[in-house]
Amino acid sequence: MTARILIVEDEAKLARLLADYLVAAGYEADCLGDGREVVPWVKAHAPDLVVLDLMLPGRDGLEVCRDIRAFSAVPIIMATARAEEIDRLLGLELGADDYICKPYSPREVVARVKAVLRRMQPAPSGAPPHEGLILDEAGFRVRSTSGEVELTAVEFHLFATLYREPGRIFSRGQLMDRIYSDQRIVSDRTIDSHIKKLRKKLAEVCPQVELIHSVYGAGYRYELA
Ligand code: CA
Repeated sequence: MTARILIVEDEAKLARLLADYLVAAGYEADCLGDGREVVPWVKAHAPDLVVLDLMLPGRDGLEVCRDIRAFSAVPIIMATARAEEIDRLLGLELGADDYICKPYSPREVVARVKAVLRRMQPAPSGAPPHEGLILDEAGFRVRSTSGEVELTAVEFHLFATLYREPGRIFSRGQLMDRIYSDQRIVSDRTIDSHIKKLRKKLAEVCPQVELIHSVYGAGYRYELA
């Protein structure tokens, strides 16, 4: 069945271009340009995913996202022109599934749409949620079929936070909140450097698989892709 994507974007040319790329990728695509039109449309047509611009005439993307979440769990990708904005949006916990920064390439949006839809598919029954990856909480270790690796306490808590909610984007600030009780001792860069070390260690037990993904302007997420 063809997935139906709703593009909410007031720049008509951009919306049209994105629609063309989505259709070329095998999706159905519809466009709306006014924030007030979105809720009735979603109720009437039940799309499979919504690409939602933040700045819209009528009603802004933030409000529209909240309105949709009041009655639907449809995946939402929020688009914003400011990378710094994403951190604030994450903090509001709007319930969007991904964030993308403008200007974006339509190809990039298509890739994100694919990834979000794939994430929404239920795992085949009986399959373990994280194939072959075991967290040893007592020993701060991660095990896989190819071996095991020891993490520092900080690395372990960092990884466990991401791992327990696959697909969820955590901003650096949120990760710091989870890991450190005393925020004064850390900076954004500290998180980045721990992530770097963590990735290197994980590569020892899960070679050729990227487990921790950077989300540009937003933070990090765990995804077994
Ligand atoms: Ca706009």
